[in-house]
Amino acid sequence: MQSIRKRLSIIIVFCSISAVFLLGIFVNITISRTFNRYMIDNQNQRNDRIVDYFQQIYKRDKKWTENSGKEIMHEAYMSNYCIILLDSDKKVIWGMNPDEIRKNSHMMMSNVDNNRGIYKSKSFEIKSSKKIVGYVIIGQYSPVLLTQQDMNFKISINRSIMLSIATAVVIAIIISIIISRQFSEPIKAVSDTSVKLSKGNYDSKSNVKSRIKELNDLTQSINILGGKLKEQDQIRKRLVSDISHEIRTPLNILQNNLEAMIDGIFPVDSEHLNYLNEEVIRFGKLLNNLNVLKQFEDEKLYLNKEVVLLDKLILDLSNKFLVDIKDKNIGFDLNIEKNRSFQIQGDADKLTQVFINLLNNALKFTPQGGKICVNLCTNKNKIVVSIKDTGIGIKKEDLPFIFERLYRGDKSRSSTEGSGIGLTIVKKILTLHHADIEVESKVGWGTSFTLYFNRIGEA
Ligand code: ADP
Repeated sequence: MQSIRKRLSIIIVFCSISAVFLLGIFVNITISRTFNRYMIDNQNQRNDRIVDYFQQIYKRDKKWTENSGKEIMHEAYMSNYCIILLDSDKKVIWGMNPDEIRKNSHMMMSNVDNNRGIYKSKSFEIKSSKKIVGYVIIGQYSPVLLTQQDMNFKISINRSIMLSIATAVVIAIIISIIISRQFSEPIKAVSDTSVKLSKGNYDSKSNVKSRIKELNDLTQSINILGGKLKEQDQIRKRLVSDISHEIRTPLNILQNNLEAMIDGIFPVDSEHLNYLNEEVIRFGKLLNNLNVLKQFEDEKLYLNKEVVLLDKLILDLSNKFLVDIKDKNIGFDLNIEKNRSFQIQGDADKLTQVFINLLNNALKFTPQGGKICVNLCTNKNKIVVSIKDTGIGIKKEDLPFIFERLYRGDKSRSSTEGSGIGLTIVKKILTLHHADIEVESKVGWGTSFTLYFNRIGEA
């Protein structure tokens, strides 16, 4: 298997090299074509010049001799073309032998095109006073004749193109290494972290920063995932220890008392039997709680939605709580904002459960002489309900977990009756109502739960 870095580098290098080569070939073809066109223009001008030259000669001598214009032969030999002079009857006056320039032409034309080696000639009329007085045939072994300088020019252009291609390839390789590292490093870090997480090392984190948003999000997500796994792992461990503790205590009491009765240390009377029965009931309650939790976790919770008047619901519930609150000598305040509608769409029974759980907790964790305060008000598009108490408060490190299954704050509170599922149920019901819950707490000062419901008509 290939690493992402290797694969990315190969793709980038392959694409860059292909692009550079194509560009190189394109530039080369364009330059060659333009250059050849330029040379052909030059040749045409040369032909015009030769014709003009012979016209001047005829104008001067008024006839053709076998030496007419022979001076041009030297230039023709040097430039690898062949000239034959004919009179008006197309009889040869003088002419060069094409074979004599063949060898030289081949050397010059080594890489011009496929037509090399084929002798081609063209005949031009020589006129004097608008009358044809002769013909000149100009021939050569290649469509374009190049001098050594022309060849050097072409070679140097080709060399520059090759050099540019090589430089571009080197640059492409360097860029590909940099880019592939930018992409692959965070991905590799995330992949390493996920492998560690899968092995149960929940403390591992990926610290690679990337300027690419998606990669940064990926790194953050894996870190958040790691954090969540760690939390869940802690909760699971705590859950197992809590359950075993909860089960062990009544079981130990039962076992010790029963042994004492068997040994005749305790009498088998109704007082002792009642005590043992209470432990059995406690044990049963624990199993019931686990069962309730299972129902909330497993089954899909359906809401019987109707219009609910939150102010009425809370007022009725508070009246029921008042007896317990007074019994415990705790103050109670209920403030409902005047002339406001507290209508929401929801399931009245489930919402009652939410407030029972919250008020129960407030009552449970607030010592005598404390105070519980319930507030109902509205803001722009929400109904806000807060339940504050001046109880024992929740430790900062416990706050993130209180809505988790079977999470119970301080272990020392195990004397306080509870199951650690009240707030889990609250959260679950509120989520189904698209409502939010926030908690603020300080040990020794109290706790405040604030609930935000959408008003009817709001999403
Ligand atoms: P429990 O049955 O233990 O009350 P909950 O899910 O209702 O379970 O609450 C979880 C934990 O949150 C409690 O064990 C307690 O530590 C903490 N808690 C909840 N409400 C309060 C409160 N009003 N004051 C102090 N601690 C609270």
